[in-house]
Amino acid sequence: LRVRPLTCTETRQGDQRVVHSLGDGTVHVSAARHDATFGFSAVFDAGASQEAVFEGSGMRQLVELAIEGFSCTVFAFGQTGSGKTYTLMGPLAQSETRPAAPGLLGLMQRSFACLLEQSRSRGSDLALSASYLEIYNEQVRDLLSPGPPCTLPLRWSKTRGFYVENQLSVDFESLEAITDLLLQALDPVPAGSQRRRTSAHALNRHSSRSHALLTIHVRSRAVSMCPAPGGGLGLACPSKQGTLCFVDLAGSERVKETGSSGELSVEANNINRSLLALGHCISLLAKPRGKRTHIPYRDSKLTRLLARSLGGSGVTLMVACISPSSRCLSETLSTLHYASRARRVTTRP
Ligand code: ADP
Ligand code: MG
Repeated sequence: LRVRPLTCTETRQGDQRVVHSLGDGTVHVSAARHDATFGFSAVFDAGASQEAVFEGSGMRQLVELAIEGFSCTVFAFGQTGSGKTYTLMGPLAQSETRPAAPGLLGLMQRSFACLLEQSRSRGSDLALSASYLEIYNEQVRDLLSPGPPCTLPLRWSKTRGFYVENQLSVDFESLEAITDLLLQALDPVPAGSQRRRTSAHALNRHSSRSHALLTIHVRSRAVSMCPAPGGGLGLACPSKQGTLCFVDLAGSERVKETGSSGELSVEANNINRSLLALGHCISLLAKPRGKRTHIPYRDSKLTRLLARSLGGSGVTLMVACISPSSRCLSETLSTLHYASRARRVTTRP
């Protein structure tokens, strides 16, 4: 659980802090009619650095497991403005042109650095590639394809489970390359025009209305020389394929609170539908194995794409993000309840 600091606006408005970390993996919410304590594997309060979150959340272990061939997923959940994108990317999506200060880099860049370091120390027998999708209005779009976003079909097969057909995957070998890829995807250059930077506000407005999934494919070519039949040296390659998927979920706030209408309300309904479907799957998965019924992954594109990470053989880290402000109390409580349910889900990696 990550509690972000009060923003300047919240401080100016005189908002009260209603969330307090008690220091032992628990947080206490105290407001007029609420007084509750919630426990998590780790709690990061307003003062926690990006590095502390990377080291204390188990993210480094997740990177190592991906190298070992596991499917790993980290997803950030919470209302718009609670710090999901900040936690995953740091101010990457927000700085106009300046690169972000190294201390502010998010879980993604720290994981890439970790992967690339491993790759170098292993003599480049790790091949890394990335794919980047968003689910917007229940449509899966490829964020890496040049030109206007194209919608891709989501299919199912016995061997692969749910998968996205024809999604692009781009190899990368440096931090600059993958960072550029992310920036391009977040703010594509329209054909024939100058590179522009959409305002941070516009970017966040969009990011809070779609679910973004960045998947890093980690292939390890564990090549070793061994005697081949008939003499000489042959190659034995027990190669492994792992994935590391970063999911920046759309804002969890309810339609009534955003007062959306028309096109925006269609969006909000789609977001609600997929987050409800996710919540529903999580609730069912949280039941003891013997009492589980059918898990309705097919209810939304999001749950289909996350099926493996949620229930099956994946290793998943959920970072619930909340604001400490009294103004956000009801959303904060709903995130805390959601996250408490998610904690009870067990997978078998
Ligand atoms: P979300 O992606 O959940 O909508 P953001 O990550 O964009 O929210 O965060 C909203 C604002 O709060 C941003 O201006 C961001 O820089 C700031 N913020 C979020 N978390 C932190 C943090 N831990 N420390 C400092 N600023 C933060
Ligand atoms: Mg965001």
